[in-house]
Amino acid sequence: MDKCAKCRKFQTKLFLKGDRCVTPKCALTRRNYRPGQHGPKTTSPRRSEYGLQLLEKQKAKAEYGMRERQFSNLFSKAGKSRKSTGEELLKLLELRLDNVIYRIGWAKSRAHARQLITHRFFTINENTVNIPSYSLKMKDIIKQRKHIELIKTTVPKWIKIDPKNTLAEISREPAREEIETDLDEQLIIEFYSR
Ligand code: ZN
Repeated sequence: MDKCAKCRKFQTKLFLKGDRCVTPKCALTRRNYRPGQHGPKTTSPRRSEYGLQLLEKQKAKAEYGMRERQFSNLFSKAGKSRKSTGEELLKLLELRLDNVIYRIGWAKSRAHARQLITHRFFTINENTVNIPSYSLKMKDIIKQRKHIELIKTTVPKWIKIDPKNTLAEISREPAREEIETDLDEQLIIEFYSR
């Protein structure tokens, strides 16, 4: 499926191809209704509770570029935390190495970040890591092995970047309101509690 066709399916800009979503090429802008519907309708059919929950889980998987198994594993890991499962799930998603590289602005999308990671562009605490799903911890230091220009200028507050832009540190856990997503984690919890 074309990356921006997913934007249309989930009715939100997923930035799977980076800046494509800010151009008119993004399917969400082009045709603002879901595939399978014939043109915009004045009243959209009500989705079932289950349908909404399933869609939200699929949206999260698409947004973060994850397979079913990986995602459900992450969800059960989040469930074991003493904190709220939803908040923990989003935190674990955010702390994936590919997401962090994307949030810093060292890659234009998470897919691009995954490509750089598998090509051994980064070290974590001096060790080369080529696993995009690598789960970062507090105080981990990510270094560029090959020089990468910064793509955007706003780096999340929980990540510290050195002035030379070659090194990043996870300075603290991301708070829920700092996580830039329109995912409704409650729907995902409901999906898995069925
Ligand atoms: Zn798009």
